[in-house]
Amino acid sequence: MRSNKEEIKTPKVRRKKRRSLNREFAVVTYSMIALYLALIVYFCYFVGFQSEAFINHSSNPRLSVMSEHTIRGDIKTSDNVVLAHSDYDGKNETRVYPKGREYAHVVGFSVNGMSGAEKDANFYLLRSHAFIIDRLKNDLFEKKNEGDNVILTLDSKAQEAAYNGMGSYKGAVVAMDPETGKILAMVSKPDFDPSTISQQWESLTSSSSESILLNRATQGLYPPGSTFKIITALAYDRNGRNDNVTFDCSGDFTSDGFTIHCYGNKAHGNQSFETAFANSCNTTFAKIGLVLKKNSLKNAAEDFLFNTDIPTDISNVKSSSFTMDKSANDALIMQTSIGQGNTLATPLQMALVASTVANNGYLMEPYYIDSIENNNGINVKTFKPVEYGRLISKKEANRLKKYMRKVVTEGTGTGLLTSSYKAYGKTGTAEFSSNKNEAHSWFVGFANKNGKKIAVSVIMEGAGAGSSHALPLAKKIIDSYLSK
Ligand SMILES: [Zn+2]
Repeated sequence: MRSNKEEIKTPKVRRKKRRSLNREFAVVTYSMIALYLALIVYFCYFVGFQSEAFINHSSNPRLSVMSEHTIRGDIKTSDNVVLAHSDYDGKNETRVYPKGREYAHVVGFSVNGMSGAEKDANFYLLRSHAFIIDRLKNDLFEKKNEGDNVILTLDSKAQEAAYNGMGSYKGAVVAMDPETGKILAMVSKPDFDPSTISQQWESLTSSSSESILLNRATQGLYPPGSTFKIITALAYDRNGRNDNVTFDCSGDFTSDGFTIHCYGNKAHGNQSFETAFANSCNTTFAKIGLVLKKNSLKNAAEDFLFNTDIPTDISNVKSSSFTMDKSANDALIMQTSIGQGNTLATPLQMALVASTVANNGYLMEPYYIDSIENNNGINVKTFKPVEYGRLISKKEANRLKKYMRKVVTEGTGTGLLTSSYKAYGKTGTAEFSSNKNEAHSWFVGFANKNGKKIAVSVIMEGAGAGSSHALPLAKKIIDSYLSK
């Protein structure tokens, strides 16, 4: 019986030991599995996200290997207009730009160091998601695969209106959807023919070329002129603007020996702040500048991302600058308050100001690569809008909206008054030389119709008053986009 008992006991003990051994095994096994899973997750993350940024770096040799095996894909607008495609004769590839100069800066070129979408989307254009059977066939016969197509956020009608409307002026246009950050139009003049870029390279990069290759929309730095009054108005609101205070304008205003004139020396008379904004009254804004607390203008400008890198995947975007410090004299304060002084802004920067006001104080990051499709038009990837964050409060945005609406209903922007949509804006006439007759024509604003929105920023170099040139061009762009 005893031995029987023993016999019964023994397996129990063994089982216990085995169990504890099993537990140790399990711990080791599960740890290994967890480690593997972590590695796999990291690998997928790298392949899925990091590698694209890594490979897309234009100096990466892997891209030139990819180009040996792939016919570069097409670039198209959001409404399916082909902007770039490759002709391949079995040996050589020729890049063709059916819309030529109209999209020169924004689409860019794929040679000479690349630029524009050709540069920013290079990786996607050289990657192929062609059907596996097609790819196997191509590999077997040592043929190139067809690269993926890149769809931009651009709207062909808005782009056409912007390009044609600019005429023979130098300048730039940026139009965007304030609720998504999608760039709808981007024009820079003077322009170039992207299909002959290599042949013209020397003359285009010479010092006498008028910086033709520069994308003025994202890199052109201009005095913002009266469009900056949007920012001065924000600073004034924050300083406790009083509705009962009025401003008397006799056409000019002098402080500390420096005189500010209203456009054409016009005397605007006694006006409320809102009316002064609508009239773009320089003497009012010079007076306001002098009573603002130190650094209020700088803080307001920096809240709108002056002196900051613009959050965007578009390459070669310049920051705008605001440099007035606490020691500025009256002359500099007065000039800065009306958008002269040392302040410099890109047209994209001013589009972001309008866009933020239109979007109730929130900035959406501007972007122009919408999605990627394979050679058969099947979607491979879509880029989603990215919210950068709140730049100004909703209350502040609503006040600025009110001011910008009054510009259109009874101020310098009545050219935009129409029953077909509701428009808001600010004109600008920015002096850039000692000759008072030479001025850039600016307009920034936005419009909406049945929930569809567009923000625009237009500058026409040396064209004169904002209301007579930049505003009519902005109207053409808004009309073309909202009429669809
Ligand atoms: Zn005035």
